[in-house]
Amino acid sequence: MASAEDVWCQLFSEPSAGSDVAGLRTRADKNGDDWTLNGQKIWTSGAQYSDYGVVLTRTDPTVSKYRGLTLFMIDMRQPGVEVRPIKQMDGGQHFNEVFFHDAVVPDSYRLGDVGGGWTGALTILMSERLAISGVQPTGFPQFLDLVKSLELDGQPIANDPIVRDRLASWYSQYAGLQALYKRMLTAVAKGGIAGAEASMGKLVGAVMNQEIANFTCQLFGPAGIILDPEISPERAHFEEQVLFSPGVRLAGGTDEVMRNILAEQVLGLPQEPRADKGIAFQDIPTGPG
Ligand SMILES: Cc1cc2nc3c(=O)[nH]c(=O)nc-3n(C[C@H](O)[C@H](O)[C@H](O)COP(=O)(O)OP(=O)(O)OC[C@H]3O[C@@H](n4cnc5c(N)ncnc54)[C@H](O)[C@@H]3O)c2cc1C
Repeated sequence: MASAEDVWCQLFSEPSAGSDVAGLRTRADKNGDDWTLNGQKIWTSGAQYSDYGVVLTRTDPTVSKYRGLTLFMIDMRQPGVEVRPIKQMDGGQHFNEVFFHDAVVPDSYRLGDVGGGWTGALTILMSERLAISGVQPTGFPQFLDLVKSLELDGQPIANDPIVRDRLASWYSQYAGLQALYKRMLTAVAKGGIAGAEASMGKLVGAVMNQEIANFTCQLFGPAGIILDPEISPERAHFEEQVLFSPGVRLAGGTDEVMRNILAEQVLGLPQEPRADKGIAFQDIPTGPG
C-alpha cells in the first residue's frame, strides 16, 4: 500500500450512514472460517481503480452501534463485489457506489477483533483528515500567482484593495495550516497518531479553497465559467474548483462534524445529545422501510 503497487479504497459511508457512519447496515455473517458480506456502500473514492478495500461492517446488531462493528480487507475484483461509478457535476468520476452480494471474505482478512471495528475505523478517519489537511487544494498558491500576474481593465489586480485584503487574510490562514500540518507530521514521525486537531486543517483548508475559487471566478466576470484548460488554464483551474470544492467540505467528514469534533475533543465543550447512546443497534428507531 505504501509503495502504491496496490491501490486501496475506504468502504465506510452508506446511503443512510455518512456523518453517523457507526449507523451502517452492511452485514458480515460468519460461515465456518469465512464471512459473507451483503449491503451497499457509497461515495467510495477510487473504488473503480482499487485492488483492495477496507470495509466496515455490522457483525452484531444486538449490541450498541459502536460495539457491533468489524473491519475487513476485501479483494475488490472478487465475485460478489460490484462497483458503479458516480458522475459528478465537474464531469469527473471520483467516487462510486459499491454493492456486496454474498461476497465471501476469509477470516484471515479480518482487521482487529470481532466487534472492535470502530477503533480501527477511528484511526483510519483521523489519518484521512491529516492526509486531507496536507494534500487538499487550498487554492492559495494559485491565487497568489494570479495576483502577481493578472491585469483587469488595464490595472494589475494587485492594486485592488479588496484583492489585497483577501490576500492577507488567506495568507495568514494558509501559513497557519502549513505550520499545523508540519506539527502533526512531526508527531506522527515520532510514533504518535493523528489527533482530533487534524479536523482543524481539514475544516479551514476546505472552506478557504471554496472561498478562493468563488471569489476568483467572480473577478474573471463572465469568462470565469470557462472550464476548458486549452482556452484558459487559469480560468479552467478556478472554475474546476468552484465545481469540486463543495465535495472537499464533505469528504472525510463535513464542516459541521469537524466543528463537533473540535468542540468536544479539543475545546472540551459538552457533548451534543446522542439519543441512541446505550441502545442496541437493532432497537434504534428508524424510518419506514
Ligand atoms: C469527494 C468525496 C469523497 C468521499 N470519499 C469517501 C470514501 O472514499 N469512502 C467513504 O466511505 N466515504 C467517502 N465520502 C463520503 C463522506 O465521508 C460523507 O459524504 C460525509 O461523511 C457526509 O455524509 P453524508 O453525505 O451521508 O451526509 P449526512 O451525514 O447525511 O449529512 C447531511 C448534512 O447534515 C449535517 N449533519 C449530520 N450530522 C450532524 C450533526 N451531528 N451535527 C450537525 N450537523 C450534522 C452534515 O454536516 C450535512 O450538512 C466521500 C465524500 C465526498 C464528497
